[in-house]
Amino acid sequence: MGEINKNDVEKYLENNPQFAKEYFDRKLRAEALGNIFKVNPGDVKDGISFKEMTKLEESHLLFELLMEIQDETVSLERTVHKVLKRLAQLLEADRCSLFIYRSRNGSPEVATRLLNVTPTSTYESCLIPPEREIFFPLDMGIVGWAAHTKKFYNIPNVKKNDHFCDFVDQQTGYTTVNMLATAVTQGKEVLAVIMAVNKKNAPEFSKADEEVFKKYINFISIPLKQYHTTYLYNIESRKSQMLLWSANKVFEELTDIERQFHKALYTIRMYLNCERYSVGLLDMTKEKEFYDEWPIKLGEVEPYKGPKTPDGREVNFYKIIDYILHGKEEIKVIPSPPADHWCLVSGLPTYVAENGFICNMMNAPADEYFNFQKEAFDETGWLIKNVLSLPIVNKKEEIVGVATFYNRKDGKPFDEYDEQITEMLTQFLGWSVLNTDTYDKMNKLENRKEIAQEMLMYQTKATPDEVESILQYRDKLEQECIEDCEERDLIKILKEELPDPKEVDLYEFRFSDFPVDEYDLIKCGIRLFFELNVVEKFKVPAEVLTRWMYTVRKGYRDITYHNWRHGFNVGQTMFTLLMTGKIKKYYSDLEAFAMVAAAFCHDIDHRGTNNLYQMKSSSPLAKLHGSSILERHHLEYSKTLLQDETLNIFQNLNKRQHEVVLHLFEVAIIATDLALYFKKRTMFQKIVDAIEKMEKEEDAIRYITMDPIKKEVIMAMMMTGCDLSAITKPWEVQSEVAIMVANEFWEQGDLERTVLQQQPIPMMDRNKADELPKLQVGFIDFVCTFVYKEFSRFHKEITPMLSGLLNNRVQWKARAEVYEQKLKALEEEKKKKEEAAAAKRGGGGGGGGGGEDDGKSKTCTIL
Ligand SMILES: [Zn+2]
Repeated sequence: MGEINKNDVEKYLENNPQFAKEYFDRKLRAEALGNIFKVNPGDVKDGISFKEMTKLEESHLLFELLMEIQDETVSLERTVHKVLKRLAQLLEADRCSLFIYRSRNGSPEVATRLLNVTPTSTYESCLIPPEREIFFPLDMGIVGWAAHTKKFYNIPNVKKNDHFCDFVDQQTGYTTVNMLATAVTQGKEVLAVIMAVNKKNAPEFSKADEEVFKKYINFISIPLKQYHTTYLYNIESRKSQMLLWSANKVFEELTDIERQFHKALYTIRMYLNCERYSVGLLDMTKEKEFYDEWPIKLGEVEPYKGPKTPDGREVNFYKIIDYILHGKEEIKVIPSPPADHWCLVSGLPTYVAENGFICNMMNAPADEYFNFQKEAFDETGWLIKNVLSLPIVNKKEEIVGVATFYNRKDGKPFDEYDEQITEMLTQFLGWSVLNTDTYDKMNKLENRKEIAQEMLMYQTKATPDEVESILQYRDKLEQECIEDCEERDLIKILKEELPDPKEVDLYEFRFSDFPVDEYDLIKCGIRLFFELNVVEKFKVPAEVLTRWMYTVRKGYRDITYHNWRHGFNVGQTMFTLLMTGKIKKYYSDLEAFAMVAAAFCHDIDHRGTNNLYQMKSSSPLAKLHGSSILERHHLEYSKTLLQDETLNIFQNLNKRQHEVVLHLFEVAIIATDLALYFKKRTMFQKIVDAIEKMEKEEDAIRYITMDPIKKEVIMAMMMTGCDLSAITKPWEVQSEVAIMVANEFWEQGDLERTVLQQQPIPMMDRNKADELPKLQVGFIDFVCTFVYKEFSRFHKEITPMLSGLLNNRVQWKARAEVYEQKLKALEEEKKKKEEAAAAKRGGGGGGGGGGEDDGKSKTCTIL
């Protein structure tokens, strides 16, 4: 044979394929193959065949895949994409896809994760971001069916398959003809579904294709399983972190509910894996305070018709705590949030509070039922995407709040594990609330004990000697034992001891306690009940009445202003409003009795500091009562006295009468909390408006007496009128009382400075004593004028109070102006001095100036 050229060899090989195959299988050198396929030559042995080489090539690819699977920095989707690319090539499939299996709201679903994977497609073009994903339940499509049955399917013609559904085709504009599909599982759990679609160059996928498909699914299931295991591990560790936290924190610090919530939610924020969460706290009160019921009962406010919790409370979020975890961490507390606050406006928290459901919503802004804010909240551009909302339930099965979580940090929707982990969290919160509850109860008992002891220590019931000093049965009835005396005789000798009301002006608005000593004020107090004719009518034993009045006096502490004199004045004014002011006609004798008695007790055991101070100094009282702290204490104290039968002036009433009295005590005493004054003023004004238009007295009486709520509103306003009555007294009295009030305030201011280390407000700052006239004018204008103007309009007999008030305003105003003038003069003098000094300096080096000027001019020598 001559020389063989390249063409001849090619020709021979083409014509003898069998030979070519055998030759290459047998002879091809490893190094050459290594070069062709870029395989590491060390892996290739001499004499390796082509067939073996393709296997080698494949195993190398698989090895590369394995390496990638082991690399934790490569995402699950990227690895699966690589396998699917290869699979598409080997199967000659038009494309491959990955569907992820998950569960939300208790139902399973599948969602697109990688679509349209071809041998050449890029990862980015195939990955479906959460906001574009298509998801559907398991009863839809072959994918759903594969997930449901956990089996493998080779479907030559989808049109002939009952389970086929063109849902995804319609969404993507693709036409599926045939497919291979299988579920990837771990134990009993489905993790994903893999699909190869539309065989190229053949009508369907072959048996050999099935083998290749199944083989490669193994390489996909490894990363899927690994990812799932890591994910579950992560969930477990977050769970145990929370368990640990709960053991440490929940039971360690049992103080108040809100701090508890706050601390809990803040502590676990890193385990929550969401961008933001908010907690809405629900009002737990089932019954409203009497003053909040008034406007409804008077028909001024519509009764509540909105949603209610399963246990019948109005859905009222009184506070929202908003935790922002994306970007800069921040916590916002929103007290009394408006209904259109973004946390509430969707209606979802209300829905959850109403029904107690867990709601896991994907792409929440697109929801039609709920109205989520679609725009950005602030300049960060943060948007709501996915929302998981669930109730916080305590052990009593009451919904105490709603926790809402927004946007999982990885952008994916919340799944069943998120539901589990947040449910666990809200359960803990519920429990902690219960704990706080029981703790609160214990604490309240403790406080009660403390207060009771304090009460006993400070105040002792009037002694027999003290009672006898007024009720002189031994001297006057010549009996050794009071039990041996006739009640009629006791009443007689008691009355003899009491002052003449005319002599001490007991019927007058201008009454002053100054000429009467504190002991005689006890007698004056008893006298008022006789004047009301309630002692005989309600069979109040003379001894009990005397002991009660004496004990009430002793219940007042000897403080600067809120002492027995103030207590007596309020009782006397109540009496005067009823009798001289003619308000008695709307009330029964029993009611008048209770009102005057409550007025005497209204500030009993006052400590000379106000409600705010109780809160700031966390006094036992503040721990016991949530609002109207002192007023509730005065009420409790008064009721405690009445529980002692030897002090119970209402002992001969029947049960219903007794209830009336206790209710009036509550309304009257709580009403003296000036914070509630603004709630009742318009209600009172409306009653006065209506009365003013009536011509006949009977009409007015009927209008008021027919409606117990109107009577309560008027009584509450009377209490305010009595409590502030010092401002209506003759100037000689008012000017002195004002100094006493101011002194008590200044004493509190001193306590704030020393004990609480806080700067007191001007009213309580003794360094600003000169501002008193100005403060008095302000107090008259903003609070008092309304009260006495309306009372004068209500009953002209009460006009002396308004006149007194207006006179005092003139006095205070004059003094305020004098002070203003003085300040102005001082200011001007200062200004003149400064100008003179400046002029001197402006004159230049000539004068040389005194020492003072020299000292000042050091910084001003430029000119
Ligand atoms: Zn008072």
